[in-house]
Amino acid sequence: RRELLKHHFFTRRIIFGHRDFDKWLEALGKGEKVIVLTGFMPSGTPHLGTAMVFEELKYFQSIGAYVKIVIADAEAYAVRREDRDLTIRFGLEFIKHALAWGLNPEKAEFYFQTAMSEAYYRLIQMFSRKITMAEMEAIYGDLSPAKVVSALTQVADILHPELEEFGGFKHVLVPVGVDQDPHLRLARDVADRFEGELGLTRPSSTYHKLLRGLDGNKMSKSRPDFAIFLDESEEAIRKKIAMALTGGRATAEEQRKLGGEPWKCMVFELYTYFLLNDKELNELREECVKGRILCGECKRIAIEKLVERIREHRKRYMEINENLAIDRIVKKPSF
Ligand code: SF4
Repeated sequence: RRELLKHHFFTRRIIFGHRDFDKWLEALGKGEKVIVLTGFMPSGTPHLGTAMVFEELKYFQSIGAYVKIVIADAEAYAVRREDRDLTIRFGLEFIKHALAWGLNPEKAEFYFQTAMSEAYYRLIQMFSRKITMAEMEAIYGDLSPAKVVSALTQVADILHPELEEFGGFKHVLVPVGVDQDPHLRLARDVADRFEGELGLTRPSSTYHKLLRGLDGNKMSKSRPDFAIFLDESEEAIRKKIAMALTGGRATAEEQRKLGGEPWKCMVFELYTYFLLNDKELNELREECVKGRILCGECKRIAIEKLVERIREHRKRYMEINENLAIDRIVKKPSF
């Protein structure tokens, strides 16, 4: 099992916690049907924080798992009040970006929540019988009908692959940021309550650290100056990284004397998540803390590497955009 955890997300503790991941790995090792499920809000072009999840999914595919990806268009409409046509368009764009980032379409399935079949919606209705408002409030705070329905929908997203008509995957793994754990706990509780009636079992989960924005706060579409988007121009990447928060000192002289603090540095974070192998990363950390490299030069290297990565991504995206028969990949909602 250790062999399976060699990806740098594990060795660098970007994925740092789990619930029952060991059981899921054991099932994988025995050749049982396992699946990885994750969801995305289609509200804009994906950024590097989303690409980090694409990386995770690619890794799980590489060790033999099938992945299923929810486009959370029902929640976008009801809770976030996004425009429906735009949501669907962003959902389709999202799929193209996921494939361009390297997800294997042979081992992946995408779906829009509102294009699902009746069995999925039957689950939502059945789940409503065994969840209390107090449980909902504890997770979602102030409730509205939209939030309640969305929460039940999310539980159906996590648990529906277990039903025979959706493949009968009894071992579902959900990789999420730790802020999502309450939703996982709810899904696990619901699985327990429907163990007898529907034969559901508890899903497993892994928890990753979220890639931060270039100012050290959350990377988010709502703060575009501090996020790098997957369709970002080279010029914009250069400008944004040039402004990024680092662990550098006030003056070059001080930095040469005291060394930098890479653990505070958003450029180092990009290196850690995406840009360097273990040997290179260790060398850079050493150079930084000993004051042998200054932030200006370090940023220039990061910019070149990231620009190259996004350029390759954009090229693959253009090919996919021209050649992909998207209707074969995903069923669009009818309205
Ligand atoms: S030298 Fe590089 S890693 Fe060190 S603080 Fe500056 S930008 Fe960050």
